[in-house]
Amino acid sequence: MISIAKPLIGKEEEEAVLSVLRSGQLVQGPKAKEFESMFAEYCGAKHAIATSSGTSALMACVHSLGIQEGDEVITTPFTFIATAHAIFAYGAKPVFVDINEKTFNIDSSKIESAITKKTKAIMPVDLYGLPYEYDSISKIAKKYSLSIIEDACQAVGAEYHGKKTGVLGDLAAFSLYPTKNITSGGEGGIITTSNDYLAEKIRYYINIGQKARYVYDSEVGVNFRMPELHAAISIEQLKKLDFISKKRNENAQFLLSALKGLPNVILPQTPKGLTHVYHQFTIRITNGKRDYVAEELKKREIGIGIYYPQPIHLTPPYKKIGYKKGDFAISEKIASEVISIPVHPLLAQKDLDYIAKNLKEILSAM
Ligand SMILES: *Cc1c(COP(=O)(O)O)cnc(C)c1O
Repeated sequence: MISIAKPLIGKEEEEAVLSVLRSGQLVQGPKAKEFESMFAEYCGAKHAIATSSGTSALMACVHSLGIQEGDEVITTPFTFIATAHAIFAYGAKPVFVDINEKTFNIDSSKIESAITKKTKAIMPVDLYGLPYEYDSISKIAKKYSLSIIEDACQAVGAEYHGKKTGVLGDLAAFSLYPTKNITSGGEGGIITTSNDYLAEKIRYYINIGQKARYVYDSEVGVNFRMPELHAAISIEQLKKLDFISKKRNENAQFLLSALKGLPNVILPQTPKGLTHVYHQFTIRITNGKRDYVAEELKKREIGIGIYYPQPIHLTPPYKKIGYKKGDFAISEKIASEVISIPVHPLLAQKDLDYIAKNLKEILSAM
């Protein structure tokens, strides 16, 4: 079976883990700090704050802006559900705006009509590793004095006209879950910002409301800290990131040219000036037979993923607040067409050849 995702973990990570275990400092030590400064420098952000997951990173970002019940945050319905939950968890309403079917990202031209007096922020997602429409969305944010929280969980290392993800907004959140482009070796996340006030607020919040040990902030906090073992692994992964991105891009370029011109399929597109880091290589099957193609690929031992089978507005928590089928037609259509195929850096050329050959066979016979 060719798996859909596989972390690139080697000796460096193993040694990093042993050295933390032997040091006896398992939490709140030097590794998390080192990872934070490396990551901030990598993105070009002033601050980075390591967290326990991508979800907790998003939550801390939402909290830092004082977003609460009665507020609204604009986001996309075509993403992992954690994006919307991070908003809803603080009592605010996720206001969905449909996507652009070419990029799978939120359609900036539909945002202004969704803004109300209650809108506090926009949370665009860099889906599958492709940066969101930063220029037009940051203009809208400025015009209406809204904050931007970039959900960059899938897009570490991607660029928008030379700017790295992590600086495409007031705050950004990344995930280090094992299937993401780099991993902490378990759960993990990291926040970037160049805003001193927000960075400090987040540091206290994720440290149980402590400015230092037993020195309390005036606000309540949670424990979203990253343990040292995960920070040590993350450091080694970050060193490999450029290699990983290059490999993913090479694999994607191979698939793009091998699958070009086939019927009933739309291949991923990258707008000019953007770099895609191919967290997923996601194609669209346009003749209504996506599930058949998925089954055929599985039969041939090719791992696939459907990201995401249901747009978020049709999931139980958001149906409960009034969203219904037909609200976001493009997201609903795309959710029925997408299928992601392996693109990870551990694929061998024979795996890529096998994937391309089988997809060609399946698509040509439909
Ligand atoms: C993975 C992911 C998250 C959540 O990250 P976890 O580390 O799994 O909590 C949030 N948003 C998006 C778009 C993701 O892909």
